[in-house]
Amino acid sequence: MTLKGKVALVTGSTSGIGAAIASALAAQGADVALNGFGEAAAIEAMRAGLEARHGVRAAYCAADMSRPAEIDAMVAQAIASLGRIDILVNNAGIQHVSPVDSFPSDKWEMVIAVNLSACFYATRAVLPGMRARNWGRIVNIASVHGLVASVDKSAYVAAKHGLVGLTKTVALETARTGITCNAVCPGWVLTPLVEKQIAARAERDGVARDEAQVRLLSEKMPSADPVGPEALGALVAYLCSPAADQVRGAAIPVDGAWTAQ
Ligand code: NAD
Repeated sequence: MTLKGKVALVTGSTSGIGAAIASALAAQGADVALNGFGEAAAIEAMRAGLEARHGVRAAYCAADMSRPAEIDAMVAQAIASLGRIDILVNNAGIQHVSPVDSFPSDKWEMVIAVNLSACFYATRAVLPGMRARNWGRIVNIASVHGLVASVDKSAYVAAKHGLVGLTKTVALETARTGITCNAVCPGWVLTPLVEKQIAARAERDGVARDEAQVRLLSEKMPSADPVGPEALGALVAYLCSPAADQVRGAAIPVDGAWTAQ
């Protein structure tokens, strides 16, 4: 229980990777503030489940991460509910797939807002408290697409490369403090975000879902084996541990050798 007494805010934690990260941090004893869209009853069940399973406090802080004012309000609400924020995991993210020639302007703006600008606003809002206590962990869930590109993902690739850049800058600005900032760069992870792309591939190729998954993954990921959300939760827990005190400004691939090529 290395994180007992710490408070973590995990954005986009009502689903997929964020939910697994929130669970992994709670398992280490951290109190957790959840954020993300979803049905009120399902979110409440998740919140209450974290408290019951791990004996921690859990809160839900609604905010549309594309709206800066709501991000500031979310941080204020998390601090009001749980007392402080020691760990910020910038995880909320969306995808839109289209050739750049016909990429819709509103989709571009939204992908940049949620995947990049939101991470800046949340980071700026939590840093004063972390500096005052001289301890903090900021973990940005980027992607292999923060390191390399793929066709038809211009906004996502631009946002995730930007997020890796933001990570390095924050790491430098906090280098002499007890605050660290790192990025995690997963390859394919089986979550609702990816299920949509598998479904699109199945329709395009006229094949079953499982065959579409193999085709989609093996194009880029030599292991052809998706990353488990729990593995990412374990990595974030490590980055929050004392062992990672000097892991700073890193962009860590978890990608089945995708970026080794
Ligand atoms: P997901 O769709 O399962 O979950 C996304 C979460 O973000 C949900 O909780 C959703 O409610 C929340 N969210 C979306 N828009 C929001 C908004 N405007 N305001 C507040 N919350 C919002 O996706 P996931 O696959 O778990 O992705 C999580 C992160 O991991 C994203 O940043 C994504 O880019 C990144 N990532 C995913 C994969 C993958 O293969 N799934 C790979 C690399 C990186």
